[in-house]
Amino acid sequence: MEDVIRALESALGKEAVLTGDEIGARYTTNPRGESFPIPIALMRPRSTGEVATILRICNEHGQPVVPQGGLTGLCDGASPRGGDVAISLERMSGIEEIDTAAGTLTAFAGTPLQTIQEAAQAAGFLCALDLGARGSCFIGGNVSTNAGGNRVLRYGMARDLVLGLEVVLADGTVLRSLNKMIKNNTGYDLKQLFIGSEGTLGIVTRVVLRLHPLPASTCTALCALRDFDRVIELLRHAQGRLAGTLSAFEAMWPDYYDLMTTRIPGNSAPLAAGHGLYVLLDALGVDQAVDQERFDAVLASALEKGIIEDAAIAQSEQQAASFWKLRDSVSEMSKYWYPYVGFDVSIPVGQLGAFVEACRAAIGAGFPGAESVFFGHVADSNLHASVHLPGADAARFPKREIENTIYGLVRERQGSISAEHGIGMRKKPFLEYSRTPEEIRLMQTIKQALDPKGILNPGKILPDSIAQ
Ligand code: ZN
Repeated sequence: MEDVIRALESALGKEAVLTGDEIGARYTTNPRGESFPIPIALMRPRSTGEVATILRICNEHGQPVVPQGGLTGLCDGASPRGGDVAISLERMSGIEEIDTAAGTLTAFAGTPLQTIQEAAQAAGFLCALDLGARGSCFIGGNVSTNAGGNRVLRYGMARDLVLGLEVVLADGTVLRSLNKMIKNNTGYDLKQLFIGSEGTLGIVTRVVLRLHPLPASTCTALCALRDFDRVIELLRHAQGRLAGTLSAFEAMWPDYYDLMTTRIPGNSAPLAAGHGLYVLLDALGVDQAVDQERFDAVLASALEKGIIEDAAIAQSEQQAASFWKLRDSVSEMSKYWYPYVGFDVSIPVGQLGAFVEACRAAIGAGFPGAESVFFGHVADSNLHASVHLPGADAARFPKREIENTIYGLVRERQGSISAEHGIGMRKKPFLEYSRTPEEIRLMQTIKQALDPKGILNPGKILPDSIAQ
């Protein structure tokens, strides 16, 4: 351990290697406020060359590293273990280029997502990747975890928005694949190996993103529905009639709607309580007057056909923002609902309604007094849930038992235990619930080929026996 620190100091300068108290709590704390061990060193490289030097030295010494971005991930994929060297990409920030002909934006890994969104907008484009942590998450982390978010229905996950990457491999090799072309079938699509692999196969240092035309109109509504079957009907009804502009379709079960409208300060209730489900819709188009007329007509016909029971259509940007706040306030929930355990799962969309009922029944039977809320990006089959035990002492909160219950129900339905948050350390024990032994063995083979000494983010994703 002393050797690797000395080698890093002699290659990059003593001041480049932070140790002990020089490492702030930010690098060892997750978004839930839980603390992790202090790494043996924190490196904050300023260039791809420095990342390459750090990895070459760490690989020579068999020294595990944990790459860190904006530290907003929910599965502890960037949380250090005691013996790790942490590598924060925070100094590698900035937009290198916007190519208006190609419709691409090239940025360094440590650039906050919101900075990228604003730069794209200033150039007349849309960066379609969007999620609640936009102000603090980094694009490198978004790519490494294949982030999802609110607009996946229309634009896809991070994976669908990345055209090129620069990645540093375990031994310090720099893989420059800064492709800007939508069509490029020259053999294996190597970038996909690094997207969503949470820094276990390489460290992303630069990203080429595909941009989209900037929408000129936004139509937003909150609808109330009787049951989940009606939610699916509304999705098909809206998708078929909104000419490809439907961009978000967020469902909220009444327990979630009640919590957000009654317990989070500053939120109002646009529709009455007591409906079976609520859906927030967003359509992004090109002409506010024309698009709004069509949007209103689509909702009017949904009401006429009995698909929806009620609707509130946003009359201003401000009102649309207040509807969205019901969905985005989830980040404030921990303040009012501690202790709780959160879930991010996928279930084939037609089974989602019954799945929520099964979860409620299992939680009611196994954890008397527990409260739960359900919401999510239903059009993507993605459900979020949170389970809370009022008055429970955090140390005795039965997190693992609740996880076993919910993930067991996911496994029975061949669903995914991680829709968009990744695996990290937190979901690692449940990987086999959603992946076959053959799939896990192939992941191990790929890991072994790219990182034979197992230095890249060990302890994440793969079972310990094969990840070292
Ligand atoms: Zn989500």
